[in-house]
Order: sequence, then C-alpha cells, then structure tokens
Amino acid sequence: MNDWVKAKVVGKHQWTEGLYSLQFDAPIADFVAGQYIKVGLDIDGERVGRPYSLVNPPQQRPLEIFFNEVPQGPLTPPLSVLEPGDQVWLTGTASGIFTLETVQPADTLWMLATGTGLGVYLSILRTPDPWERFKRVILVHGVRMSSDLAYAETLNEIATQYGDRFTYLPAVSRETQSGTLQGRITDLLNDGQLEARAGAAIAPETSHVMLCGNSAMIKDAKAILEGRGLVRHRRQAPGHYTTEGYH
Ligand SMILES: Cc1cc2nc3c(=O)[nH]c(=O)nc-3n(C[C@H](O)[C@H](O)[C@H](O)COP(=O)(O)OP(=O)(O)OC[C@H]3O[C@@H](n4cnc5c(N)ncnc54)[C@H](O)[C@@H]3O)c2cc1C
Repeated sequence: MNDWVKAKVVGKHQWTEGLYSLQFDAPIADFVAGQYIKVGLDIDGERVGRPYSLVNPPQQRPLEIFFNEVPQGPLTPPLSVLEPGDQVWLTGTASGIFTLETVQPADTLWMLATGTGLGVYLSILRTPDPWERFKRVILVHGVRMSSDLAYAETLNEIATQYGDRFTYLPAVSRETQSGTLQGRITDLLNDGQLEARAGAAIAPETSHVMLCGNSAMIKDAKAILEGRGLVRHRRQAPGHYTTEGYH
C-alpha cells in the first residue's frame, strides 16, 4: 500500500530537451541517501506512480528528482510539463537498499551511472558516509550526448570540498567531446580506459562498485566485474558491488 502525501512543485530545471529536475515540498519521513520515493499523478481517474531516487541529501530540502521524459510512458510526459505551484503525490516513506549502510569500507568507491542514474549519487556524495569509509570516490557518468551531462555546479562543489579524493569522469557515447571519455561505460571498463583515466584499478581487495541506471549496462558491467572476482554485495553477505536498475 502506498502512503501518498500531497506535495507541491517548488522548483523546476530543464537541462536539455527531455531532461528535467523537479523540486518538491512535502512532509515525507526521514530517509537514507540512496533511497527512492514514488511520484504520482492522477491520470484519467487513476493514480499513476513511479519510483525516483532522491537527489537531495537527507538533511537538505527541497526534495529533488532527476528524470528524462519517455515519450511513450504514462507518467513522464505529464511530469515534465509541471510547473512550480502544481500539486503531485509522493510516497511519505522512502524505500530501497541502494545505500552505503551495510557496505564495508575500502580504498575506492566507484559510482557508475548511466543517464539519470547520476542523481542518486549526488545525494550520497553530499553526506559524510562515502568520505568516512573510502579514501577515494570515482564517479563515472555515461550519457549519449554531452548536453546530457547535468549538475556541473553540484559536481564542482563536491570537487572543491573533497579535492583529489574525488574524481568525476564523464563518458559520452554518441559524440566526441574534449575532456570526456568517448564510448559506453562497459566498453571503457572492458578495455581498461576507465581505470587508466582514473589511475585506480577495480579489484575485490580495494574497491566497492555501485551501478545505477540502464539495466543493460548493469548486466554487462556485472559480468565484467564478476570476471575480475568481485561478488554482489548483500546485507547478510558483504560483497563488492551493488546495483539499482531503472529500466
Ligand atoms: C528503484 C527505481 C528508481 C528509479 N529512479 C529513477 C530516477 O531517479 N530517474 C529516472 O529518470 N527514472 C527512474 N526510474 C524509472 C522511473 O520509475 C520510470 O520508469 C521512468 O521515469 C518512466 O516512467 P513512465 O511512466 O513515463 O514510463 P514507464 O511505464 O515506467 O516505462 C515505459 C517504458 O520506458 C522504459 N523506460 C523507463 N525509464 C526509462 C528511461 N529513463 N529512459 C528510457 N526508457 C525508459 C521502460 O523500461 C518501459 O519500457 C527508477 C526506477 C526504479 C525501479
């Protein structure tokens, strides 16, 4: 049963065509960075709700989500035309276990995202957790076009705060852009480019890897990581990688 609460849109940003962030004011319960809420709209007499990771860290308001419009999808086209002042429904309690709560400390935390999968990491990175448990954090953002590389300002703030403990590696697959890796995350992982650029190796002794976004990327990355001896992390059986598939 969803515990819907009323929420008001208090902010909106369009990054590029079809790519948005929305901010909400709503009385939701405390959450852990990495969790998601459901966002709902009443469409043709029926409540349509979908999960979205929270981008804001738990101690910060407004609540924020980062999403792309799926033209044939039921929720995202009406979601993308909302404006400040409009009302939506949110679940009052966040869910999900894509958090650092039970992850063992290690040298390096790798955060791999495709598309809007970036958002969840912006919440986690703005808590003390990753910085207390890992010496370095390497965030890889895979997108098709460089115009999809959102949240530059937030990433700059994190880089300013944590200096060389934080590495941000954008990877663009459908155009060549200076200063970015070119290609899909899984190809860059396979041919060693990602680790060469980061100056760190992915190994079970030194790394925890988080994978978020497109399920095809997650499936292929899992196979590569398992080939190198990493095993899935579970609450009862600590391992080396965790995943959150969006679609
Ligand atoms: C735990 C969880 C957290 C999520 N968090 C986010 C988030 O933070 N940001 C976000 O953008 N999405 C997120 N999603 C996906 C989101 O819930 C919706 O599925 C998506 O926004 C599309 O909604 P829709 O109702 O328009 O279409 P849906 O009916 O949900 O999907 C229609 C079709 O589009 C595909 N699809 C879904 N999402 C995408 C996408 N992003 N790009 C291309 N195709 C897609 C689906 O697989 C399906 O085939 C999350 C999903 C899960 C399970």
